Amino acid sequence: MSKQWEHAGCSVSLKLLDNGIQIAWDEEDVEVTSWRDVLGATAKESELTIDLSPYNKHGQRFLENIVVCSQDKALVKRYEALICYYARHDFINALPEEEILTKIEVERKCLVLINPVGGTGNALKMFKQVKGIFKAARINAIVKLTEHAGHATELAMELDLKLYEFVVCVGGDGLLSEVVQGLMKRKDWSDAIQLPLGIIPGGSGNGLAKSMIKHVKEEFYPENCAYLIVKGSPQPIDMMTTRNETETFISFLSLAWAFIADVDLDSETYRFLGGLRFTVSAVAKVLSRKRWYGTVSYLPADNASSVSQYQHKDGTVLTPNFLPPIQKAKDSVPKGWKTIKGPFSFFWATSAAYPSSDCYLAPQAHINDGYIYIVVVPENVSLLTQAKLLLSLETGKHVEYPQVQVIKTRAYQLHRDDSEYVSVDGERLSGSTIQVEIHRGLGRIMSLPL
Ligand code: ADP
Ligand code: MG
Repeated sequence: MSKQWEHAGCSVSLKLLDNGIQIAWDEEDVEVTSWRDVLGATAKESELTIDLSPYNKHGQRFLENIVVCSQDKALVKRYEALICYYARHDFINALPEEEILTKIEVERKCLVLINPVGGTGNALKMFKQVKGIFKAARINAIVKLTEHAGHATELAMELDLKLYEFVVCVGGDGLLSEVVQGLMKRKDWSDAIQLPLGIIPGGSGNGLAKSMIKHVKEEFYPENCAYLIVKGSPQPIDMMTTRNETETFISFLSLAWAFIADVDLDSETYRFLGGLRFTVSAVAKVLSRKRWYGTVSYLPADNASSVSQYQHKDGTVLTPNFLPPIQKAKDSVPKGWKTIKGPFSFFWATSAAYPSSDCYLAPQAHINDGYIYIVVVPENVSLLTQAKLLLSLETGKHVEYPQVQVIKTRAYQLHRDDSEYVSVDGERLSGSTIQVEIHRGLGRIMSLPL
């Protein structure tokens, strides 16, 4: 065994293997750190610092490093380049070593938007807690705090797309939604919406972050979300045209009506309570015994063929394929669509498994399957059933109740007899008719493969 390196005063051998970095003190004393836990490396003269993010017994990732030295400075430099490359790319399908070494890694730069009033107001503190992960992965994070509602939309509308590799939102789904609306308002929206986004859950509604973390089997901690961004690459994410008679909104998560919309929107009053505000507002609503009247029509899913990815085209506007013109929608529904009439006790449609971090609403859903899952209770249910259903949302067991219907679709419309708001990714939308159609993989999000 050739021991060209020194670690904590001992001679060691250091090898880059297909499953990770191996340090060996002797034949028996060998340690391998998986590539999945390696963020990068930095060479300084004869010293090589290898940055890692392993996880503790709760699955929460943290930063750690290993420092090794060699008198052979060229070797130190070579290992720096190779480790940085393998930390980001798949080792097995990697380029040949000589090619990696001739590639100069350009600096990765990202924009980090922080909503200082998201959730209980600790998004800035949360970013400070995870920013070392960006640094260890050699990402230069340019931080901007949002100054008012709508600011993130303005920034996204004016953003130079070439400046940043991706944009991270530290806030709730509402902050990311603002960025998406800004990108879609641009003339070059078709390119702009492909700018990869990232999310660190600093709000009170963090459905997207939770859904992604679950897909890659990580635990739901801010560090793990940061890890997912820096170790990740752009992955397609479905987005939905969501419109009423006058406005079009691009949503990436959910539409809540009835009970959940009321809870979501009413609970703004209880913002100081953080996540608990939803609970307080929900209890108040269950007791009120309110019902919601309307009609849901949808295109039944064709399970035989998989949905094709959205094809980005220059210049054209984003036009839905299945939705009828909204003005005519009241009188008829397209052929082959199905209709359900209320009263509804519950209505929540989502494109991801968790429309909110504590609701496992659609266990089958995936953020890039091209489908929306509408979870409805189209009847009056007793106070007890209503309460039980709500309590089982957290585990996904509500789908086992006979009163609960789960509809898989690519397009639907909702006519409401009331004039209350629905909640689209946590933001308000009004209108008696609302139409939604999903576009598979319209946007991109930074993650390990989903
Ligand atoms: P939460 O999940 O707690 O609702 P979000 O990050 O989703 O947190 O943000 C909620 C809203 O906060 C967004 O709709 C956005 O318009 C608004 N917002 C962002 N920055 C500011 C700010 N500096 N002051 C007031 N409101 C803001
Ligand atoms: Mg989906």
